[in-house]
Amino acid sequence: MAATLRHRLPEDQMPFAALIVAAGRGHRAGGGIPKQFRDLGGKPLLQRTVRAFLDHPQLAQLAVVIHPDDTALYAAALQGVADARLLPAVQGGAERQDSVRAGLEALAGTDPEIVLIHDAARPFTPPEVIDRVLAGVAETGAAFPALPIVDALWRVEDGLVRHAEDRSALWRAQTPQGFRFGLILAAHRSAAGAAPDDVAIARAAGHDVRVVMGDGNNFKITLAEDFDRARRLMGDRMDIRTGNGFDVHAFGEGDHVVLCGVRIPHPRGLKGHSDADVAMHALTDAIFGALAEGDIGRWFPPSDMQWKGAQSEIFLAKAMERAADRGFRVNHLDCTIICETPKIGPHAADMTDQIARITGLSPDRISIKATTSERLGFTGRGEGIAALATATLVAE
Ligand code: MG
Repeated sequence: MAATLRHRLPEDQMPFAALIVAAGRGHRAGGGIPKQFRDLGGKPLLQRTVRAFLDHPQLAQLAVVIHPDDTALYAAALQGVADARLLPAVQGGAERQDSVRAGLEALAGTDPEIVLIHDAARPFTPPEVIDRVLAGVAETGAAFPALPIVDALWRVEDGLVRHAEDRSALWRAQTPQGFRFGLILAAHRSAAGAAPDDVAIARAAGHDVRVVMGDGNNFKITLAEDFDRARRLMGDRMDIRTGNGFDVHAFGEGDHVVLCGVRIPHPRGLKGHSDADVAMHALTDAIFGALAEGDIGRWFPPSDMQWKGAQSEIFLAKAMERAADRGFRVNHLDCTIICETPKIGPHAADMTDQIARITGLSPDRISIKATTSERLGFTGRGEGIAALATATLVAE
């Protein structure tokens, strides 16, 4: 039999619209504002959910249904998400069903073939689950992800176990629930009463609905402990980096040295292009190292005369700015100063305060310590000061 050439996309690879329902009040999770706008690891929960769909290559358009009181929260939650597929927010109704209906009516103008209706509070939907729902819709016209129940189920009455329930045919529903668009719009328009979800509405209109395999991480954030679970899940994916820095400056003419921004009287100064703050240079290089962005020399070339005599805090401030621009938070800084003189101990607290002022870190995340080299080597002979540092950065 000759192979058939496809002139159209297979149905399970057709573009789809997504409708994210974010109109709930969601106070069971605590926090004062509806849960979908709360922070989850540095981004609003809703933004994470929206991005999970925008990241799918077949997504053609996406609309979010919100409560009329949440216009400002919505704008803040999606600030910086610039994507032409994101349609203006749709105002929802009193019940979830009303909100979905409003969203479907809003999408009707864009004439989608397939729509996936999703809870705003499920931010971790894997692309494979979306793919399975799309394949189920292609086959049956309606499909949703669910998980089989693995725990034993017992019927309980008055606190006493009565009998075991057969769990083999029971599934736990998730979203996105996917439908041919015309099918679910017509089903909503003709729905007679309240239904728990869109699967129920499709079934009430006489349609078969296929179950596809869900995913354990595609859980709904409902209670405060679900936020903890979500943070732990993201912690597994956390981008944590360490960088090291090392610097040496030789003693020369002068009556003081500057270490971590603190001026310390000393019979000899340190030679250098800037203020020769060897400790702050090591800290700065550690941050640039964690970012894999070279060292101070790349950002502030010694050949550039404008840095002559500069206060080294501008270097450290620049490294902090680069970390923030790259989406990293500096979590901890540790610096060891190696010299016979001056004595560092009496100044360590002042140095910590200076680094805290420049970086915005709390002092308990800054470690400044010192050692001698037991009179060995160039530091032992009092020819100069060395410093090494470690920076720990965490992606936001
Ligand atoms: Mg230096």
